[in-house]
Amino acid sequence: MKKAVKWGIVGASTLGVLYSWYCVVPSFYQKWVSRKAIRRIPRPEGKEIVLTFDDGPDPRYTPKVLDVLKKYGISAHFFVVAERAKENPDLIRRMLEEGHEVGLHAYAHKNAWLVTPGYVKRDFAKSAVILRELGVDCKYYRPPWGYVNQETLKQIQAAGYQLVMWNVMAQDWKRNQTSREIVRRLLERVHEGSIICLHDGGGAPGAPKRTIDALDSALPLFQKIGYRFVLLKETGI
Ligand SMILES: [Zn+2]
Repeated sequence: MKKAVKWGIVGASTLGVLYSWYCVVPSFYQKWVSRKAIRRIPRPEGKEIVLTFDDGPDPRYTPKVLDVLKKYGISAHFFVVAERAKENPDLIRRMLEEGHEVGLHAYAHKNAWLVTPGYVKRDFAKSAVILRELGVDCKYYRPPWGYVNQETLKQIQAAGYQLVMWNVMAQDWKRNQTSREIVRRLLERVHEGSIICLHDGGGAPGAPKRTIDALDSALPLFQKIGYRFVLLKETGI
């Protein structure tokens, strides 16, 4: 084998190892293994579950999500995209006033596998300023798509955030879904201690509209069968 080819292979393998160390391994570790990342309520008291929303706020949908939660007297977590929060301060204020918990879902919803440590630092710094100005005492962080890198983990720790994943999704962001399918998936997948991840923004065009319809059907059903929607702080997290 020619020397140049050999060194090319060595170089590519080293880059592969470094890249895996930087983002691939930490993402899978946090998603499936780490005890520090919350994926479900560790010790639920009876039928406790947590409802969370990502990718908002969106002025077209978030007010309706808040209306449905109010209708059934449910508090939820909103993992907001900070640049969207900055554009919609009234929605953040309403979330806080109505007893919801506002967490961070990054500044601009970028994939942690495709950004540099410098970018991540700036993302966290800008987000912290925005949230502080909006009066949010942010305690929880959920990474876009659940992907992290070494710098994300460093920033989460430095800011004192709790990393929150999920263990129930209902594919509500996809196109060609119906609210009935979303309800069916929720009923099938939710168990004691579940952390449910839905979306009040982003996704396929009009997707959050189906989420809102699904919520209006699913929430009273869950309440009827004895589930209690709690916030993570009520479970000691
Ligand atoms: Zn997201």
